[in-house]
Amino acid sequence: MNSIDTICVQGGHKPGNGEPRQVPIAQNTTWKYSTSDEMGKLFDLEKSGYFYTRLQNPTCDTVAAKICEMEGGVAAMLTSSGQAANFFAIFNIAHAGDHVVSTASLYGGTSNLFTVTMKKMGIEFTLVDQDASEEELEKAFRPNTKAVFGESVSNPGLNVLDFEKFARLAHKHGVPLIVDNTFATPVNCRPFDYGVDIVTHSTTKYMDGHAAQVGGAIVDSGNFDWFAHADKFPGMTTPDESYHGLIYAEKFGKAGYIVKAVAQLMRDLGSSPAPMNAFVLNLGLESLHLRMPRHCSNAQKVAEYLQARPEVSWIRFPGLKEDKDYALAQKYMPNGTCGVIAFGLKGGRETCIKFMDSLKFISIVTHVADARSCVLHPASHTHRQLSDEQLAEAGIPVDLIRMSVGIEAPEDIIADIEQAMVEAYK
Ligand SMILES: *Cc1c(COP(=O)(O)O)cnc(C)c1O
Repeated sequence: MNSIDTICVQGGHKPGNGEPRQVPIAQNTTWKYSTSDEMGKLFDLEKSGYFYTRLQNPTCDTVAAKICEMEGGVAAMLTSSGQAANFFAIFNIAHAGDHVVSTASLYGGTSNLFTVTMKKMGIEFTLVDQDASEEELEKAFRPNTKAVFGESVSNPGLNVLDFEKFARLAHKHGVPLIVDNTFATPVNCRPFDYGVDIVTHSTTKYMDGHAAQVGGAIVDSGNFDWFAHADKFPGMTTPDESYHGLIYAEKFGKAGYIVKAVAQLMRDLGSSPAPMNAFVLNLGLESLHLRMPRHCSNAQKVAEYLQARPEVSWIRFPGLKEDKDYALAQKYMPNGTCGVIAFGLKGGRETCIKFMDSLKFISIVTHVADARSCVLHPASHTHRQLSDEQLAEAGIPVDLIRMSVGIEAPEDIIADIEQAMVEAYK
């Protein structure tokens, strides 16, 4: 079973004879055991088994297993949001006094998490221009750097990450490359094929696709050798006293990173998804391979339409031949990047707002990557805490409109845009 289409439909859940065909929802917090000794072994990670849903739940694990197969990884976990996934992915290996290199072109929530909240926890981030040369990017690394982070297709900047360039840099400095693959999804791109070590997702977006649950996921390729850089990652390679001195990278091998994130971070910080949400997410995954090509072809048509309009001052969509990242997109995501387009309208901020307010079925929502077309103005919404300078640094012009092209009929989407364009310039 190695086609992504089949994995989307059948991955993760392998029912035996007489067992439920659909993933059962284990909507319970606890599991019963007959002896206290059996229960004790679970707490020592000596035996695997369920005991409390904050740590593990079979519904969530089944869906995590599907996402793991989709990405071609060895171990995965679900989290209650994409924010929790990105936080855990880094906090699992970086602590107070450590440093992380990240691309500057990031989702607004991630940018805030890194430069405000995690900074308060003593972890410093250097944000780099992902288009800079390797020589230039080298300068961002420090002896205490513990990871490199980027987004496969950035939200909302729509920059395509050069995985091989960043993997070379990360590995040269003995640290893993972590990539948020939310926008491309494993249907369009499998970052592990290009040297990425760990992938994160906001499953809230295309994976769910119906705006029905908030969730996240972390997948480990199992390729990063923690013992080869043991001094940098003591949490992976030295005993954890809270579990009687077990060593994650030794006892759990390639699954050590994910086991550690579950055993320590879920235990102490929570952020576990509701089993019901994992079930809803799985319904979305069953059609992801059908929705993504439609999102991409609709977005291609809308982008070509917008590009030809005289009112459009600039446009970013990596599927356009003129786009700066067209070549990278062709290399890493030849079947398409995502359904999101960024563009500006002549007239600036006010015209953008007038245009968005005039749209009929394309709605203004704080969401993206949904079956229904929608728009957002980052400078007024997701990134409104950033100054104009910070916006520019993050690659987000003040007049940027982020349009998430849905899977409706492309001619209807274009007709709605066209009438709003007329209204915006009245
Ligand atoms: C939405 C998003 C997140 C945050 O995910 P939530 O599920 O909203 O917490 C992280 N990264 C990217 C690229 C996103 O689009």
